[in-house]
Amino acid sequence: AALTGGFRFDNSWHRDLPGTYVEQAPDTAPAPQLLVLNHRLAAALGLEAEGLAQNPGWFAGGAVPEGAAPIALAYAGHQFGGFSPQLGDGRAHLIGEHIAPDGQRWDIQLKGSGRTPFSRGGDGKAALGPMLREYLISEAMAALGVPTTRSLAVALTGEDVRREAGRLPGAVVTRVAASHLRVGTLQFWAARGDHDALARVVDYAIARHDPDLVGQDGRQLAFFDRVTARQARLVAAWMGLGFVHGVLNTDNVALSGETIDYGPCAFMEAYAPGTVFSSIDHQGRYAYANQPHILAWNLAKLAESLLPLMGDAEAAVQVLNDRLSGVADLYQAEWLAVMRHKLALNGAQDGDADLAKGFLAAMEGQGADWTLAFRRLAEAETGDTTPLRALFADSTTLDLWLPLWRARLRPDATAHLRAVNPLVIPRNHMVEAALQAAEQGDLTPFTALLVQVTDPYTDQPGREAFALPAPSGFGDYVTFC
Ligand code: AMP
Ligand code: MG
Ligand code: MG
Repeated sequence: AALTGGFRFDNSWHRDLPGTYVEQAPDTAPAPQLLVLNHRLAAALGLEAEGLAQNPGWFAGGAVPEGAAPIALAYAGHQFGGFSPQLGDGRAHLIGEHIAPDGQRWDIQLKGSGRTPFSRGGDGKAALGPMLREYLISEAMAALGVPTTRSLAVALTGEDVRREAGRLPGAVVTRVAASHLRVGTLQFWAARGDHDALARVVDYAIARHDPDLVGQDGRQLAFFDRVTARQARLVAAWMGLGFVHGVLNTDNVALSGETIDYGPCAFMEAYAPGTVFSSIDHQGRYAYANQPHILAWNLAKLAESLLPLMGDAEAAVQVLNDRLSGVADLYQAEWLAVMRHKLALNGAQDGDADLAKGFLAAMEGQGADWTLAFRRLAEAETGDTTPLRALFADSTTLDLWLPLWRARLRPDATAHLRAVNPLVIPRNHMVEAALQAAEQGDLTPFTALLVQVTDPYTDQPGREAFALPAPSGFGDYVTFC
């Protein structure tokens, strides 16, 4: 088993969808070095960490495990509202699908592993910092219970990459996903008018994610409903955590409902609906509070892509339009469910949405840290409002709100509040410090931070430094793709 690392590949995309990808091996890395290996994830997938660690070339490029059949996938996408008919895996290789002991199928993808026919002007490479960021944040999201792609490893290639900041160590992240099917994957074939390929890809997506729909009449519409439900739930989970994805282009929306493509993402600290981190999001298209609207926009693009497969066009347009006009309500219901949990409300009552909005209104403009405000409701509930009030520049509105909230609490509110509201999230200043140290060759801060963010809920002495927002000197946080 040391030879295989436990990989059991069955490459259905390669087998079932010829013409939708290019066979393409990852680049050879001059000096592969495995920097981070996710032992817990490896164990959950039935992989053997020891066997994996003996093969850094699998994770940096230059070698593929037995049974892998590396390919680069074609996809399109709306980027900031404008359609790009040909994106695709420009610096990623789907090396195969691993079948875990429970029978689950997982895409194993390398990112930063070299040029492909989809690279356009890009170098196909990635710098260490962004790959470590993806590892850290995706693993934090998993620990927070959010559907997400996972990270199995980060490896150095031994080669520098040229970026605006200068020469940086090149690295590859190994991403594990329920699939790499995106809204943009369907858009690629719809835009070309290749409805045969489109039908094959949609049926493939259905087989992977909604196998109960296989072969059914009307499955395309049912599939649209499933993706909608998953995405509405996903975006509601993000909103509950103050997560700003940062680049919700249709090629970064997974049909599986997993969070995918951790580029310029970051967690909001002080609550402000317009929060944007990405240096290129000048209009705030992907701002915190705009994410639910973008969800609806992206689902409209999914609907357009499915339309050619849905028979009578007029009827299909009507039914899809009906569905799209329901997205806002669907999302609202998911958001309310999240908020009821975060506020530990007892059952469901009519005024709950207003109650939740009341807390947000109390926070807005007061500099209140989103994560800590919810977390400190636990102390407030037991009678000590001081830690909570300390987060607010002015707590007048909060003080009016607290009694309304107290009247709605579930019996186990204290424990519930601590179980659903994290103490530790990846704080922007800590992430930056960890990545900078790693670029200088010191992985210690990264490892320490990873331990903290993958254990978000427990109260323990010594965690305070990881729980606090950035010091004011850190300034406005700006992220880059
Ligand atoms: P992203 O912004 O990461 O979602 O990527 C958008 C598109 O750009 C995808 O087709 C990527 O494969 C491609 N891309 C991003 N970075 C690179 C790179 N360094 N080299 C080649 N293609 C890239
Ligand atoms: Mg992308
Ligand atoms: Mg990216």
